[in-house]
Amino acid sequence: MKKWFAAVLLAALVLTGCGPKQPEAHEAQLFAMDTLMSLRIWGDEVLVTQTEDTLRSLEALLSATSEDSDIARLNRDGTAELQPQTADLLQQALDCATRTGGAFDPTVYPLVCLWGFPSGKYHVPTEAELTGALAHTGPQHLQLNGAVAALDAGCSVDLGGIAKGYAAERCAHQLEETGAQAAMLSLGGNVQTVDSKPDGTAWQVGIADPNDPSSAIAVVRFTGSKALVTSGDYQRYFEQDGVRYHHILDPQTGRPVQNGLRSVTILADSGTLADGLSTALFVMGLERATEFWRASSDFEAVFITEDGMIYATEGAAPLLTDCTFTELKR
Ligand code: AMP
Ligand code: MG
Repeated sequence: MKKWFAAVLLAALVLTGCGPKQPEAHEAQLFAMDTLMSLRIWGDEVLVTQTEDTLRSLEALLSATSEDSDIARLNRDGTAELQPQTADLLQQALDCATRTGGAFDPTVYPLVCLWGFPSGKYHVPTEAELTGALAHTGPQHLQLNGAVAALDAGCSVDLGGIAKGYAAERCAHQLEETGAQAAMLSLGGNVQTVDSKPDGTAWQVGIADPNDPSSAIAVVRFTGSKALVTSGDYQRYFEQDGVRYHHILDPQTGRPVQNGLRSVTILADSGTLADGLSTALFVMGLERATEFWRASSDFEAVFITEDGMIYATEGAAPLLTDCTFTELKR
């Protein structure tokens, strides 16, 4: 093509606002895994239905509260043969428990039930009740041999701290394999992107303000496939006698964690890892979590503290906008 002709054509495109047409995103919302999920998928519309189906089938396997799930059967019978995906996630949950020194604990369910979170019948336990539930908590009470899991008597499993990240990661892989151009999946506090946004702009994910969760205290901007998962004390809680009791429990004390953190956001390639670590680093507190990050190389983090400070690890800092923050160095 002659240069002048190309220049005229380009000018015409700019003037008329034409250009390569950006594909439309298909959007859907659903309620699953006890949370509102929203999907934005660029590609064939059938990918939305396919993703919804995958989320529902994972919920049916992994939820501790739906009667026939693998996890509910394991908790009820003390032993169960698991579907491959459940066994895969349970193994990753146990690995996360080992890696975080038990800060992430998939056997925390007796404590979660004692506080009344699954039923909504909230209760502040007595010391004796806590001691009783703590005796039935700890990864040493759970054995996994291939697809067969077994629990000690009185113990039970809760994958609520890691299942949404796993589900997002599985859906992202499926979307990549089935030809999606790009996607952003938001499953409660779990965001997972697939590839970069077709219009070339960055993905933008807000980190909720713990004092006003409907607004963002900071925005993370990035391109490509990533998981970004937040655990916060504002996401699920009840109040009694003016005290707020939230849903992330310290497996050492059995009580809601109180260490000055309001939220932890993890950025990682793996959604499962990001979800497990968001819960674990919340339990660790800022100081221990920072040391843990320094000894790791597979994630970055943003911490929000009770005094309103924002701390970002070295790799997260360049992505963080719309806020003032302190950078944590390696
Ligand atoms: P997340 O929002 O990912 O931090 O997960 C919180 C959920 O994980 C809670 O609602 C409980 O079901 C469960 N959970 C609470 N404390 C822990 C813990 N220390 N380790 C693992 N799971 C936990
Ligand atoms: Mg988590």
